[in-house]
Amino acid sequence: MSRTETVSLPRRGASAEQLRAVYEVMRILADDDRDRGTPPTSTIVCAACRRDRPAPGAVDYDGVRLCNGCATDYEVLRMAAVVDDVAGFLGRAPAPTAG
Ligand SMILES: [Zn+2]
Repeated sequence: MSRTETVSLPRRGASAEQLRAVYEVMRILADDDRDRGTPPTSTIVCAACRRDRPAPGAVDYDGVRLCNGCATDYEVLRMAAVVDDVAGFLGRAPAPTAG
């Protein structure tokens, strides 16, 4: 006798619509920074990818600075309930690959 169990995980994945909204907001952030005069050549050290990244579009989460790309990743993962906060995001970030 075997019994098939259907495990239904609560999937709270982000919808395509939500993803679009995140990308849009991140793009606007970068535009805003440039409009406010943040030099496109200025950089921040991203807490997630640990690289020099353009300051325009970077996001400050309670003192943790993420580049635009990582902030986008973070918002997407948070929306999908994969991470709860920035600390969780940084904790799960893969080590930067050399090169
Ligand atoms: Zn980054």
